[in-house]
Amino acid sequence: MKARPRAGLIRVREFTMKDAYSFHTSQEDLEQYYEKCHKAYERIFARAGIPEVISVASDSGMMGGNISHEFMLVTKVGEDSLAICSECDYKANIEAAENIVHNQNTLPVDNLRLVPTPNASTIDEIAAFLKVPIMNTCKAVVYQKDLTGELVAVFLRGDMDVSEAKLTNYLGDNIHPALLDENSPMVAGFIGPYQLDNTKCTILYDQSLSGIDYLVCGGNQMDHHYTGFNILRDIGVVEYKDFSKIREGGICPHCGKPAITISRGIEVGNIFQLGTKYTKSMNMQYLDNKGELHYPIMGCYGIGVGRLAASVCEAHHDEYGPIWPITIAPWQVHLCCLRVDDAMTKEFADGLYQELQQAQVEVIYDDRDVRAGVMFSDADLLGVPIRVIVSPRNLQENCVELVTRDKVVNTKVEKTLILTTIKELIGNMLKSNTRI
Ligand SMILES: [Zn+2]
Repeated sequence: MKARPRAGLIRVREFTMKDAYSFHTSQEDLEQYYEKCHKAYERIFARAGIPEVISVASDSGMMGGNISHEFMLVTKVGEDSLAICSECDYKANIEAAENIVHNQNTLPVDNLRLVPTPNASTIDEIAAFLKVPIMNTCKAVVYQKDLTGELVAVFLRGDMDVSEAKLTNYLGDNIHPALLDENSPMVAGFIGPYQLDNTKCTILYDQSLSGIDYLVCGGNQMDHHYTGFNILRDIGVVEYKDFSKIREGGICPHCGKPAITISRGIEVGNIFQLGTKYTKSMNMQYLDNKGELHYPIMGCYGIGVGRLAASVCEAHHDEYGPIWPITIAPWQVHLCCLRVDDAMTKEFADGLYQELQQAQVEVIYDDRDVRAGVMFSDADLLGVPIRVIVSPRNLQENCVELVTRDKVVNTKVEKTLILTTIKELIGNMLKSNTRI
C-alpha cells in the first residue's frame, strides 16, 4: 500500500464555499451579531464531528476591516501556522501575531569596520566566519512590488523570518521575492543598510533589530560585510515595524510571557468584521428614519465545505478509510447482504432494507454478489457509521450482526430486535455528537 500523500484530500482543486453576509446600522449591532455567528460556527464544527476546531485571531489582509477569526483544525498536515500561548488564551495565525522581541546586548559597542568575508554569504556562514551569535546579524530580504517592480528591502535579525502577509498589509501592494542580478542596485548576499541607496528601493526595518548595539550586516559589495554596525549611531533614528513571524518560545502579545507554541492547522472557516469597504465601493446605501443616507456596516461568514469534509476525514479515519460522524455521514446504516444467492438471506435483507427506510433510517444496501472481504473493504471506504450484516450463518442463529465503523460496537442482535436496536444506537450517536 502506498503512503498517503501529505494533505491529499485537503489540497484539492475544487473549492466549495458557504458564504453569508450581514448588514448593520451600527458597529455595536455588527459586534453582537458577529459574536452570535462565532458561537454558531463553534456549534457547527462540533456537530460536524470536529469539536477540537479552535478559533484564532487572523490577518484581515486584503479583505479590509479590523477584526477577523479563522476556525482551525489543529493537525500536523495543516497549511497554516498558529501561535498558541500556553499561559493564556491567546491564539492567532502567525501572520497576524505580533512578533515582540526583547534584545539584550551580549557584544560590546565597537567601531564600524568593513571586513572581507570570502565564500560566506548566508547568515549561518557569516555568523560562523566572524564568530558572532546569529542574534547579532542583520539579514536582508528583498521583494518586488507586483505592479511596479519597485524593490523593497526588509532588514531583520538574522534568525527571524519575514511575514509576507504583514509586509503586504503595510505596503498595500502584492509582492514577490526579488530576482537580483548584476544590473540590480544591490549585491545579492551582501546587502546591508549602511550607505544603501534609498532612492533605488524602499528600506524597512523590522522591530527585531531594535536595541542591538553591535550588528554584522552586508557591506553592499561582493564578499564584504560590516562589523560593529550600530543603527542609531551609523544611520540615525529609523522606524521599526513588525514585519517578522512569531516563533516557538516567542513572547505572547497578550500576556507578555515567552510561552508561544507553534502548531499547524487547516482552515475550515472564517468570519470577518468587514466595515464599510464593500458597501462604499458598491455604493450601497440605506435611508435611516430621519431620511438620511448611510453605508451599512458589513460582516461576512464563510465555511469551506469541501475542506470541512477533508478535515473531518483527517480527524476521523483509520488505515481502511474514513469514519464519518453520524451527523454528517451520507448514510446512517450500511446494510450488507452476504450470499445473495441464498433465497432466505436475500429475502430477509430485502425486508430489513424496506423496514429501515420506512423507519426513516438513512440506509445504503449492498446486495452485490461479491465475496465478504470485498464487500467489507468497500464499506470501510464509504465509512458509514453503522454496519448491519445479514448472512445465512447469522440467520441460522436467528441473528444479524451489528458493527460500528469505529469498531466500538461489534455484536449479534436477535433478528426481531434489530430495528429497535439500530434506532437506539442512532439516537445515542446523534446525542453524543450534538452535546455542545
Ligand atoms: Zn499569553
